[in-house]
Amino acid sequence: MKKSALFSLVILFFYTNTYSQNKPKLVVGIVVDQMRYDYLYRFEKHYSNGGFKRLLNEGLEFTNAQYNYVPTYTAPGHTSIYTGTTPAIHGIIGNNWFDKNLNKSVYCTDDESIKNVGGASNEGKMSPRKMLTTTFGDELKLSNNRKSKVIGIALKDRGAILPAGHLGNAAYWFEGKSGNWISSNYYFDSLPDWVNKFNKKKFPEMYLTQKWQTFLPIENYKESIEDNNNFEKSFDKDGTSIFPHDIPSIFAKNKNFDLLKEIPFGNTFTKDFAIDAIKFENLGKGEVTDIITISFSSTDYVGHRFGVSSKEVEDTYVRLDRDIEDLLKFLDLQFGKDYTVFLTADHGAADNANYLKSLNIPAGTINDNKLSDSLKFFIKKNFGDSIFLNYSNQQIFINENLFAEKKLSLQDFEQKVIAFLMKFDGVQNCNTASDMTKNSFSDIPRLMMQNGFNAKKSGIILVNYQPGWVEYGAKGSTHGAPFSYDTRVPLVFFGKGINRGKCYEKVNITDIAPSISTLLNVPFPNGCSGKPLNMYFAK
Ligand SMILES: [Zn+2]
Repeated sequence: MKKSALFSLVILFFYTNTYSQNKPKLVVGIVVDQMRYDYLYRFEKHYSNGGFKRLLNEGLEFTNAQYNYVPTYTAPGHTSIYTGTTPAIHGIIGNNWFDKNLNKSVYCTDDESIKNVGGASNEGKMSPRKMLTTTFGDELKLSNNRKSKVIGIALKDRGAILPAGHLGNAAYWFEGKSGNWISSNYYFDSLPDWVNKFNKKKFPEMYLTQKWQTFLPIENYKESIEDNNNFEKSFDKDGTSIFPHDIPSIFAKNKNFDLLKEIPFGNTFTKDFAIDAIKFENLGKGEVTDIITISFSSTDYVGHRFGVSSKEVEDTYVRLDRDIEDLLKFLDLQFGKDYTVFLTADHGAADNANYLKSLNIPAGTINDNKLSDSLKFFIKKNFGDSIFLNYSNQQIFINENLFAEKKLSLQDFEQKVIAFLMKFDGVQNCNTASDMTKNSFSDIPRLMMQNGFNAKKSGIILVNYQPGWVEYGAKGSTHGAPFSYDTRVPLVFFGKGINRGKCYEKVNITDIAPSISTLLNVPFPNGCSGKPLNMYFAK
């Protein structure tokens, strides 16, 4: 009797110990804005051993992690990572979208009821209120009477606010006018001292007085096309798009610190601020797990301006690799092995369409303003004035009340408008809102459209472009499509509770949140549609 009681106690101790052992003091969510999966390997030989390579060598890599909805943009991307569901459920259907009730375009985190904290402009009137579901951070906080701390950091407001969730203790983003990290009174009424101290150091002024030279000799960057080419935008209209970039003279022209977002030093600046947040907020030093979400935004700005195949993108990743190395070294010092990291991206990017065309690969650009104007004209001619309201995020919005009042036939409208759209070069197919609500699709891109379709918020006709076709200008890169160049992103888990390994199975971006929830033994986010990947984690 005594013996078996002792045995049970040992078993109980073993299991309890296993549970608490896998729960880290700190979860660090890293999102690299516009990072394609291939960048992990394309620039590999220029990476140090302590950054991306360390994550891959010591962590668990998913080689086929995919976005499972359109549009593949920053706000829906960050929201889907942290809520474990798609825009159909979480409601963040774009960065901006046309609000049918307000009859105007709205921004994902705009909130008129909110005031700036620490800013010199209106860039602080922001909150996560348009996000309709909880994040894994919210669920962690609900599980322990809000003892856990959750802090979101990114140069882009949406990259900080949406990951921090509804219960975030703070979100910080960058304001170009002042060159400061700011926040809003959604979180508190004044910035903490450590933030004011950081802002007083005036790092942006320092970064903007240096030319942007390549980190390694430019001849070493053999993975990108020649620096002088026709596929890149310059920083200003008289400038060139080749190294070295004369940042001080560009900054001297308009004195707006937003320029820092567009160069790789914006990532270093973000990393340093995140380290101070962990230190001065005592993250990971209490009884319960804390969360910090860090989004590196500069990669997206550089990608948009110079394009996927540019030397500038290559240099930006070589530099970001060193920032990741610094961050991991800091986490080692603070927490030993008691922290867990995941690294992913909010979307990928398409190669510049004119570059692809120059190589005989089918591709093209679509001018959405022109497309919108011709749609407006066509709809006016066939169905009357004021029916067409907006074309955005590849969706058509109409005045549904007026449409009903005039007793117009929806079927006739859909048929005529779709036939009109199909004449445009680059349009692959169109789907209607009723297709989205009545059917259940499994094919790409219609499943992707359906996962991005929110019955209350989305348009009446949804348009899909052919692979390689982008809604963009002649130079630089963009994203938004349901195809793998935009949907396939890195996904690496690293640190406490994670086995070293490589998994080739297709997983969805919505699987990250329930995996972290499982690691922390807390409920899944309330709209979660992903599946946990913990069978690959440490037992
Ligand atoms: Zn972007």
